[in-house]
Amino acid sequence: MTKTILAFYHLAPLGLDALEKEFRVIKLWQEQDPEETIQRYRDSAVGIICWPNTPPISRRVIEALPNLEIISQFGVGYDNIDIEAARQREVVVCNTPDLVTNDTADTALGLMLMVARRFVEADAYIRVGKWEVGGSPKGFLGHRLYGKTVGIVGLGRIGAAISKRAEAFGCTIKYTGRSPKDAPYEFVQNIKELAQQSDFLVLSCSATPKTIGVVNLEVMEALGPQGYLVNISRGSVVNEEDLLIALRNKSIAGAGLDVFEKEPYVPEAMKTMDNVVLLPHIGTATYETRAEMAKLVIENIRLWFQRGETLTRVV
Ligand code: NDP
Repeated sequence: MTKTILAFYHLAPLGLDALEKEFRVIKLWQEQDPEETIQRYRDSAVGIICWPNTPPISRRVIEALPNLEIISQFGVGYDNIDIEAARQREVVVCNTPDLVTNDTADTALGLMLMVARRFVEADAYIRVGKWEVGGSPKGFLGHRLYGKTVGIVGLGRIGAAISKRAEAFGCTIKYTGRSPKDAPYEFVQNIKELAQQSDFLVLSCSATPKTIGVVNLEVMEALGPQGYLVNISRGSVVNEEDLLIALRNKSIAGAGLDVFEKEPYVPEAMKTMDNVVLLPHIGTATYETRAEMAKLVIENIRLWFQRGETLTRVV
C-alpha cells in the first residue's frame, strides 16, 4: 500500500515536492470535504503534517487512522495536537524548535515598539491624508522602551531571545515561570507580581492546561494604565474578554498581539481600538525561517520512515 501523508498545510515557501517523491501526499486544504478524504485514506495514512492554525489533531483524528505513525508539526508549540492520545497510540510527534526563536523574538520587540510608539496609528495618519491637511501631528506621543522594565512570562528559548533584545534597548528584565533559570534576571514568583513590576508584560510561555487564561483582568489591572501587554505565545494564555475590558477601560495602556484565542477570529471591538496592534500570527513568517521549518518537518518524516529516527521529537 502506498504510504500516505495527510498534509493540512502547504509548507510554503518550500512546498511538499520533496515528500511527493516518496509518499502519496494528500493536500487537504484543496479537498472539498477534508473529513471524507481522511476517511478515504484512513488505512494508508501513516503521517500527518499540521500547524497551529489547521484543524486540531484531536483524539478522534488520531484514533481514526489505524496506521498513523508520525505527526510532524510546522511550529514549536503543539497545543493543537492531543499529545496524550498520540502517546497512547504510540504515534511520534515532532515539532520545529530553535529555528523559530529569533523571528518570534523580533516580532515581540516589533509589537512593543509598534504599540508603545504608536507606529501603526502614525502610519495610518499619513495614508488617510491627515498629515497634509492637518500639518504636523501634535499627537502620537508614546512611551519609550529605554529604561523600562520588561516582564517575561516563560523564559524559554523565545523568552530568552526577547530578553537579550530588550536589554539591548536599555530595558531591565524580570521574569516568571515554573522555576527560576540560570539567567542574570530577577525571578518573580507569580504573574500578577511580575505584572505589577513591569511596564511591558511579554508572554512567551507554552500553551498548556495550566497557562490557559492566566492573564486575566486581575493581572492586567496589576500591569496598570501605563503598562503594555505583548503576546506572541498563544491566544489561549490571555482571557480575551478580560483583555477587551482592560483595553476599553484603559486599565492597561495597550496591547500588541500576534495570537488570538480563536484564530483567525479576532473580536470586532478590538479592530476599532487605537491602543491595540494586531498581527495575524506571523511570528515566524520570514522566507528564511519558514523554509527551514518546512525542511525540518519533511526531514523528520523521511528519517522516521528510513531509520526510525527523528531530529526533534516531542513524544
Ligand atoms: P520553550 O519550551 O523553550 O519555552 C516555554 C516556556 O514556557 C518555558 O520557559 C516554560 O517554563 C514556560 N512555561 C511552561 N509552562 C508554564 C507555566 N505553567 N507557567 C509559566 N511558564 C510556563 O518554548 P519556546 O520558547 O520555543 O516557545 C514558546 C511558545 O511560543 C511556544 O510554545 C508557542 O506556543 C509560541 N510560539 C509562537 C510563535 C508565533 O508565531 N507567535 C512562534 C513560535 C512559538 P519552564 O522552563 O520553567 O518549564
